[in-house]
Amino acid sequence: MNYKEIFEQISDELKDFDQIGQVATYIPALAKANPNKFGMYLVTEEGHEYDHGDVEENFSIQSISKVLSLVYAFKLVGTDLWRRVGVEPSGSPFNSLVQLEYEQGIPRNPLINAGAIVVCDILVSQLDNPYQDFIQFVRDLSGNPSIDYCKETAQSEKECGFKNNAHINLMKSYGNIDNDVEEVLDFYFHLCSIEMSCKDLAQTFMFLARSGKNPLNNDKVLTARETKRINAIMLLCGFYDEAGEFAFKVGLPGKSGVGGGIVAIYPDQYSVAVWSPGLNSKGNSSKGIKALEIFTTITQSNVFGPSPIFDELEYE
Ligand code: GLU
Repeated sequence: MNYKEIFEQISDELKDFDQIGQVATYIPALAKANPNKFGMYLVTEEGHEYDHGDVEENFSIQSISKVLSLVYAFKLVGTDLWRRVGVEPSGSPFNSLVQLEYEQGIPRNPLINAGAIVVCDILVSQLDNPYQDFIQFVRDLSGNPSIDYCKETAQSEKECGFKNNAHINLMKSYGNIDNDVEEVLDFYFHLCSIEMSCKDLAQTFMFLARSGKNPLNNDKVLTARETKRINAIMLLCGFYDEAGEFAFKVGLPGKSGVGGGIVAIYPDQYSVAVWSPGLNSKGNSSKGIKALEIFTTITQSNVFGPSPIFDELEYE
C-alpha cells in the first residue's frame, strides 16, 4: 500500500479543515505551540516507514506517556497493579475529581490523570532512579537516545498543577499513595513533559503492534497476553471521554495527549502517529482524529473488521 500517497491525500483533503481547535493553554508552556503544525508517520511490521509533514519536530507528548509508564509498572508488579487502579472507561474528562471520591481513591483507569499518578507512585517505589530508569526505557523503545524530559514544561505544569495536587491528596487520604505526594507529582509532571517527534512516537509504540516485542532488537517488552491488556485499555480509555467516538470513527487502540499528538496501533500491521496541536473540546487533537479517521477508512484497517470502500468515502 502506498501510505505516503495516502498521507498526501489526507493532508490535501484537510487543508481547509476549519475545526482545527485550540492549543492547550492551561499549561502555559504548551500555549506556545503553533496550531498549523501537522505531521503523520507510519512504521509497518515489515519495518517500512512513511512520513508526511512535520514529522521530525519535537512536541510535548503529555498524556501519551501514561501508556509507557503503565507498561513499565505492569512489567514490574504484574497483576498486583489492578488492585490500585481499574480498567474501566471513565466517561469523564481526564482531570475530573468526581469519580475518584465515589470510588474511594481507586482511579477508574491508568490513562486518566489520577490513574497515571498512582502508576507514578508505583514506579517511585520500585525504581532506584525513577527519572533515569524511565527515560532509558523510553529511549530503548524509540531507538532515539536523545529523547528527554522538558524541564521548562514540567516546571510550568507544576506551577499550575492545582487539580493534580487535589487528585494525589485525595488518593493519599484513601491510602492509595505510598510515597511523598510532592515527589510523586514531580515525577508525574516530568513524564508528561517528555518530548518526541511523530517519527519517535510511531517507533516507540510499535512493540504494541508486535505482541510486545521491540522491533529494534526483538526484546520482549511484554508478553502477548500483557500486550493485549494494554491495547484493550488504550481502546477503552485512550481518549478521555471521547474514547467511544474514537473507536467508532477510527477503530484502533490509541492514546492522545494535550500536546496534540496521537498514536494508534493496528496489531500485526503498523503503528501510526499524528501531530496537530489544535484540540477539540474533549482535549484531543481535532485534525489528528479526522486524519486517522480518513486513514483507517482508506486503508480499511481497524480492529473491528474491514469495511468495504464505497464509491464515495463516508467520514461522518
Ligand atoms: N500533563 C497533563 C495534565 O496532567 C496531561 C494531560 C493530557 O495530556 O491529557 O493535566
